[in-house]
Amino acid sequence: MDERQKIKRLAAQYAPEFVSVRRYLHQHPELSFQEHRTCTYLKEQLLSLGVTDIVSVAETGLLATIHGGRAGKTVLLRADIDALPIQERNAVDYVSKNDGVMHACGHDAHSASLLLCAKILMELKEDFSGSVKLLFQPAEELSPGGASAVIREKAYTALGSLPHLGQHVRPDIPVGKVGFRSGKFMASMDELFLTVKGKGGHAAMPEKTIDPVLIASHIIVAAQQLVSRRADPKIPSVLSFGKVIADGAINVIPDEVVIEGTFRTLDEDWRKTALGQLDKLVTTLAEAMGGRCELKINHGYPHLKNEPVLTERLKALAEDYLGKENVLGLDQWMAAEDFAYYSQQNPACFYMLGVGNAEKHIGSGLHTPTFDIDESALEVGGGLMVWLALSTLSA
Ligand SMILES: [Zn+2]
Ligand SMILES: [Zn+2]
Repeated sequence: MDERQKIKRLAAQYAPEFVSVRRYLHQHPELSFQEHRTCTYLKEQLLSLGVTDIVSVAETGLLATIHGGRAGKTVLLRADIDALPIQERNAVDYVSKNDGVMHACGHDAHSASLLLCAKILMELKEDFSGSVKLLFQPAEELSPGGASAVIREKAYTALGSLPHLGQHVRPDIPVGKVGFRSGKFMASMDELFLTVKGKGGHAAMPEKTIDPVLIASHIIVAAQQLVSRRADPKIPSVLSFGKVIADGAINVIPDEVVIEGTFRTLDEDWRKTALGQLDKLVTTLAEAMGGRCELKINHGYPHLKNEPVLTERLKALAEDYLGKENVLGLDQWMAAEDFAYYSQQNPACFYMLGVGNAEKHIGSGLHTPTFDIDESALEVGGGLMVWLALSTLSA
């Protein structure tokens, strides 16, 4: 039996066990940087598979190593492990037991697939050269993110540059299929906090006030020129303000207005320029109208780039494993991911694992209270990762 068939057979054989693992994780979700019980559970699972080379990283994360029979190259496989502050609304018997916390981004499935992957790798370890690093990373969902902590860890920096592979569930892709995008794939993300200061007073006597509501309105409109006029049309950019608080009343002009939003793009130089231009624009516009505006920026994740040679090779390997018809080419995606940090320093590939199933009515979006997956994706995700990792070691 060739290696690919062997991996497929083992993935099918062991998948049910890891459906249970996924359900356990789903029932016991923990928020970013608080994944203590999750981390303990994952470590126990690894030990039960015979994986003993495990170091703790970023407080609640793990970096485990599976050594092949002979020395050789190294490849790193990453799963994120944290959940979101969402109250689950699924009527399933594995519903979250932690009030207000839910695995609504599929990180339970990422962790379970990586454990399935580990089980298969342990069974095949005498057959391959080199080693596979398994990174269970905390806090993907909360800026500054777990990846930025991992990349400062000695155990991580000692590895030097090496191929990084990561997968993420996507409910809009049918189960059984995966998707790849070579080059720039996901956006950088910065959080914007603006405070527009004026002088409040009676709404009937605006001449005695400096109206921050009017200033804020101009700022929101004018700031869009960053995307529509300043940005190179060939570089995707998004500027969205989702929170505006002017806490006055029908007849009261408030002292200040708070605006919050996000800026996303796919180019690090433009990102820096744009944020500088935004700062200048909001400051001078507010001043010209007699008020003041302070912009605070919480710098988030960089953009995620998939190394083209590695990504095209993995895409072709995925076609071997799943069939050409089950491997999709994807569009760029303006969501952000802290896997991006690894992709800035290493040849990396972040690909999408289909978990949707229209017949079973599984298709709710990521980060929604009714998000769920078709669990047969675990067999696909776990097996495919083994195939991609071993093929990368032998390339
Ligand atoms: Zn998410
Ligand atoms: Zn996610």
